[in-house]
Amino acid sequence: MKKRDFLKTLGLTAAAVTLSPLANAWDRPAVDEFTLPPLPYAYDALEPHFDKMTMEIHHSRHHKGYVTKLNEALAGKPQASMTIEKLLAAVKPDELAVRNNGGGHFNHSLFWTLLAPSSPFVATSKVGAAIIGQFGSLEAFQKTFVGAATGQFGSGWAWLVTDGKKLSVFGTPNQDNPLMAKIYPQYKNQRPLLALDVWEHAYYLKYQNKRADYVAAFWNVVNWAEVEKRFVTK
Ligand code: MN
Repeated sequence: MKKRDFLKTLGLTAAAVTLSPLANAWDRPAVDEFTLPPLPYAYDALEPHFDKMTMEIHHSRHHKGYVTKLNEALAGKPQASMTIEKLLAAVKPDELAVRNNGGGHFNHSLFWTLLAPSSPFVATSKVGAAIIGQFGSLEAFQKTFVGAATGQFGSGWAWLVTDGKKLSVFGTPNQDNPLMAKIYPQYKNQRPLLALDVWEHAYYLKYQNKRADYVAAFWNVVNWAEVEKRFVTK
């Protein structure tokens, strides 16, 4: 069934679907195609830290490419109606099209929401208190996170996650993420709170080979209100 027919059958409009109370804005009811979510700000909103051209290419070409290839890989298969979270929880190590493109779609959809022009760290927020309680200070946490981001060999992501009791920081290669329970059983029940893309396509135009400068700039555009929201939402 095509997406349009599905919506018609339910008597829903696209707007009604968009407004449904899903855990993540880019997730969707069981329809047959994943879509590229719009950025929640303009391409130049994170200047000068993340430049406009990088954001535009990153979102409209790289992220869009993952969505297109994911839909191609799932066309006609029962998995096409799964949520992205369930798809990733079930993906096996050798299912590379879904692993790479499904991971790419989830990671980037999350990443865009974790960035904002101005949403500073609040020490008295719930996640702020948890970070300070566990790492000792924001700076000590940042040092650990930077270690995961700069220490990730080649392309990948740095993560801050929680299992509801404690926080953890680690890196994953390529478009892998902690939702991939069959690939990373050690991260089962870990919910991502903060993520940083350390692929060269995320920073090369502005920072060239200087990944550490890009990671340092990231702290100026972290959407701490969104991190708090993810932390308090079970
Ligand atoms: Mn990327």
